[in-house]
Amino acid sequence: MASRPLFRALIMGPPGSGKGTVSERIAKSFGLKQLSSGEVLRANIRGHTEVGSLAKSFIDKGKLVPDNVITRLILQELKNIDQYSWLLDGFPRTVPQAEELHKIYQLDTVIKLKVPFETIKERLTSRWIHPGSGRVYNTKFNPPAVTGIDDLTGEPLVQRDDDKPETVTLRLQAYEELTQPVLEYYRNRGILEVFSGTETNKIWPHVHAFLSKKLPVLC
Ligand code: AMP
Repeated sequence: MASRPLFRALIMGPPGSGKGTVSERIAKSFGLKQLSSGEVLRANIRGHTEVGSLAKSFIDKGKLVPDNVITRLILQELKNIDQYSWLLDGFPRTVPQAEELHKIYQLDTVIKLKVPFETIKERLTSRWIHPGSGRVYNTKFNPPAVTGIDDLTGEPLVQRDDDKPETVTLRLQAYEELTQPVLEYYRNRGILEVFSGTETNKIWPHVHAFLSKKLPVLC
């Protein structure tokens, strides 16, 4: 039996647009390997790697990590999952990154989540994490049992430096400025699909229906 061709997808959306959640659901429903550039960077920061400490100095200021640094890192990670269908999340964020990716992998589809900025700002500034595990809480939708305390360990929660209100504004501006050309890059190639809304649970069924036409559904 001929095996199915590998599927290469990218999900795009500003920080806090719900792309992490939608990515997880896509990975589970369609059996794609998921690679999030933000997660790769945070794992490097937690592991005190050289690239991690370099990246941290940019992330804490709400800036993008330089193209050559992130591209090298992500292409290396993709090599490790080369034999699977995958979904990228958070990379590429600039045209030079998209061009470098395209030299090696040609994407089948780009899913863009379009969520109003005010909704995002409200979401991000209410996100708190447990630094030891990376466990995420949201003071509005998923609060810890005791305010400011991790449910499992009883340790204090912190706000990621890049989730503080002043940094969030910078991140959203940087996202707008830098990613519009990336969206255009993929729109011009005819592979951009835009999904709009203010709630992840309402956007998700549309994404699911769209991908169901291209991929077998697992669950
Ligand atoms: P995220 O979790 O995707 O919002 O990523 C957190 C931070 O990591 C971003 O605000 C950027 O500083 C950095 N980052 C993640 N992906 C990229 C990328 N593709 N290019 C440059 N910086 C990135």
